[in-house]
Amino acid sequence: MELVCPICNGMVVYLLRCAHCGKQMENKGTITEFLDDYSAYLDLNITERVDGAAYDKCIHLFYCENCNYDKRISVQRVKI
Ligand SMILES: [Zn+2]
Ligand SMILES: [Zn+2]
Repeated sequence: MELVCPICNGMVVYLLRCAHCGKQMENKGTITEFLDDYSAYLDLNITERVDGAAYDKCIHLFYCENCNYDKRISVQRVKI
């Protein structure tokens, strides 16, 4: 079995409303995609530890274009 993020794998769609304006926030992808170039060469597990996230969590960034507000959501990975 493998631990995967259901959002990254398209199994679920996570909809989040902005806490400020109530508009639907955009899923900008995972936090690891926003780390600098050096992080791209790190092992995924190391990257997650650096980012302070647990191994079984995938951190997604949601963004509201209206208020320039972003929020990190930790998604529980599931076994497939
Ligand atoms: Zn994910
Ligand atoms: Zn907003």
